[in-house]
Amino acid sequence: MATSTRTVRATCLCAAAAHDISLPAFAFPLQGIFCHCDSDRHSTGCMSLGIAVLPPEYELPSAWISKLQSTVFSQRLKHYFCPICGTMMLVHLAHDNGESGGGAHWDVCTGALEQLDGVVEFDCHELLSDTRDGGFSDFLQRVDGKTIARWAGEPGGEQLPQYWRSAPLSSTTAKTPTSSSASREERLHAYCRCRGVEFWISRPNSQSTQGITSPWPDVLHPYHSPSTPDDDENPTWWLRANNTKYLAGTCACDSCRLATGQEHITWAFVPTPNISLDAAGSVPFSRTFGTLRSYRSSEGVTRHFCGSCGATVFWDGDERPLLVDVAVGVLDAREGSRAEGWLEWWTGRLSFREDALGRARGLTEGVEEGMGAFGRHLAGAGRGGERDEG
Ligand SMILES: [Zn+2]
Ligand SMILES: [Zn+2]
Ligand SMILES: [Zn+2]
Repeated sequence: MATSTRTVRATCLCAAAAHDISLPAFAFPLQGIFCHCDSDRHSTGCMSLGIAVLPPEYELPSAWISKLQSTVFSQRLKHYFCPICGTMMLVHLAHDNGESGGGAHWDVCTGALEQLDGVVEFDCHELLSDTRDGGFSDFLQRVDGKTIARWAGEPGGEQLPQYWRSAPLSSTTAKTPTSSSASREERLHAYCRCRGVEFWISRPNSQSTQGITSPWPDVLHPYHSPSTPDDDENPTWWLRANNTKYLAGTCACDSCRLATGQEHITWAFVPTPNISLDAAGSVPFSRTFGTLRSYRSSEGVTRHFCGSCGATVFWDGDERPLLVDVAVGVLDAREGSRAEGWLEWWTGRLSFREDALGRARGLTEGVEEGMGAFGRHLAGAGRGGERDEG
């Protein structure tokens, strides 16, 4: 009897590298893994690399590979992304150094898949110790009621508890900025994995609001909501914590998903006057530097990625030229991957959740549940160490 096959479509944002993956029906659901290592964060711009493992027998057609740009990640690993729009689509892993015939297999980046429910089952977060603060794993503890394992390193080793940190936040972040020149000049380094794109972010200052206007982001006020927000309510919504931090949030829209090849992207809203192209802060932000490449993803929206390693770097809307979204995965904050000394996380809404529900309901609801619990956990910690982990 012939083996029945099932086909799932993978596509990039511009669709030039779309491809149908056909596998034996029994191969589904594919195992899904979120890797949180530093290199994966800096190579995606996201807070982890989410992949589904393809069977080792699967032979990837050369017609698909020829549409993608490869980048050597390590001796055993290569990443493949669309050179036009930047979507990270595939990972190739040699099981040894690739010379002694030890085998190899492909992973597909799950955000590129048209369907997730019934196709991929995520079972773990790995290499969490790199994050120093648990990163995005604290936003995703369960999918469809099933607990996602939290490996410190490779699967099978030590697991880290929920809300783990390598050190207390207070010992790793700067104090609230004062008028001293030292803290004013402190800068957060940001770079893609290959460092073809790098820049620095300064603390919020008087330039962070001067002449800057912006509509509300979907993460604070749903774009499709019938009620219009009152713009006078908080016209500088991108600044938080008494104007000492930038707002950060998580987006699940189809466009972000396809641009990154990842399920979710986390964005920090940063005024361009606070971005410099050198550590001293003397070279101002521009939209053309290093290996930055751009793709016009819709009318009024440009997405910028590294043309060399594929990392997503900025979301850039024409309607707010002085305020860009910075991909949090490229940040290198000493306190950890959530950069909580610089960012205040909005946990009240998963932006554009409506886009994700039809394709990935279990994961979407899992992230919403995790973000809500994380928000309550932070609020509890703020009340003097009480814990509310429900
Ligand atoms: Zn593309
Ligand atoms: Zn790069
Ligand atoms: Zn989005």
